[in-house]
Amino acid sequence: MHGFLSRDGMPPADLIALGRAEVESYGGIIVCSTVDDLLAADQGFDGGPSIGGFNARLGDGTRVHARRVLVATGMHDELPQVPGLRERWARDVLHCPYCHGYEVRDQRLGVLWNGPGTPDYAQIVRQWSDDVVLFVPRDVLTPSQRTRLVARAIGIVESAVTGLTVVDDTLSSVTLEGGREVHRDALFVPPTFCAHSSLLTQLGAATDDAGWVTTGKSGDTSVSGVWAAGNVTNPRAQVITAAGEGSAAAIAINADLVAEDVRSAIEQVGPRPGPITDHRPGSAGMAASPDTTEGDTMSTSSSPTSRATSPTATPRVGPPSKHALALMIWLCVFPTLTVINLALGDWLKTMSPVLRTFILATVAVPIVIYGLMPQLHRVRSRLVMRTARS
Ligand SMILES: Cc1cc2nc3c(=O)[nH]c(=O)nc-3n(C[C@H](O)[C@H](O)[C@H](O)COP(=O)(O)OP(=O)(O)OC[C@H]3O[C@@H](n4cnc5c(N)ncnc54)[C@H](O)[C@@H]3O)c2cc1C
Repeated sequence: MHGFLSRDGMPPADLIALGRAEVESYGGIIVCSTVDDLLAADQGFDGGPSIGGFNARLGDGTRVHARRVLVATGMHDELPQVPGLRERWARDVLHCPYCHGYEVRDQRLGVLWNGPGTPDYAQIVRQWSDDVVLFVPRDVLTPSQRTRLVARAIGIVESAVTGLTVVDDTLSSVTLEGGREVHRDALFVPPTFCAHSSLLTQLGAATDDAGWVTTGKSGDTSVSGVWAAGNVTNPRAQVITAAGEGSAAAIAINADLVAEDVRSAIEQVGPRPGPITDHRPGSAGMAASPDTTEGDTMSTSSSPTSRATSPTATPRVGPPSKHALALMIWLCVFPTLTVINLALGDWLKTMSPVLRTFILATVAVPIVIYGLMPQLHRVRSRLVMRTARS
């Protein structure tokens, strides 16, 4: 593999093994299986109840539910129908001058016609050698293409290619109609790219005129909750590009999940508070708009500045002061002890003071901390916010 900064020449399988080990070292789970079906969970398998998100059906029949999905299923290359071409693929029949050009520099190079973009592709290959020949069917080159090829001394052979001659497991020549052979050390072929996008189109993702699924800057598709990265939507993506797109999509997905978590937390807590100015040290002192639902527009920026000055800055109630905390504890402890005393008073009187204190503390402390304190804190927060509003 070439073109991945710091990993030049690494076998692709090693990169994958390293990546998997890194994911697993952070607790990630890798399931080796194909995804045969991907459906929005509201059209769940077997008519099951809607739970939101997506259901994936794996090759072994297992079902996996996910709140968000990143599809990175890549593409495959379709080659021109020339006998022997596929057998030499990725050896001396090459598809990418950026990936493999350096390795065949200054050699006798060929370029096989595969559509009107081939002359421009030959111009890129020309950077690697002074001896480049384009094999092209008769009468397909435009005058302008011909002029540009000749200008850079790219040879033009107008004939059908019928096969390749391989000697000692190495490409020796390109065979033309009529048996003529043109010696070449490597043959570049611009493939036809076929995206593995059926999982995306099955969900209804929008495509462009050429049938490629369209995405936004972070890989978001037209289907809410579904992202895509790499060759499945971008045929030009190399390994480093695909990895970068995956990273951008991952950050956007995380932001989207956090936004959803914030929304559901607000729903659980109750009615949304009105605007409140945060005067704590270090805060930007911004008042949130009463029309702004927190999390609706989660920013993917990690810049502290952009967060501090965001118009959607979160109205928060600070932690209680020492006095407020003491009052809250007293408000919790007093009624708790009263209730315990009323309920168990007679029984407690029969015990020694030490045992009585121990039993009271064992029963009262967990009730106060886990039961009553959060409730009281919530009531206090509402009171503080209401006071701030008025
Ligand atoms: C011969 C050749 C040489 C290349 N050399 C280089 C190079 O030197 N440097 C470079 O940067 N790039 C190179 N590339 C390009 C590189 O391979 C791609 O840029 C890169 O692999 C794209 O990554 P991707 O994750 O988008 O797709 P892929 O790497 O193709 O990964 C997609 C994965 O999804 C899996 N998949 C597909 N459908 C499903 C499904 N339904 N369920 C589960 N899994 C599924 C596939 O099996 C595959 O493992 C080369 C390509 C070729 C063909």
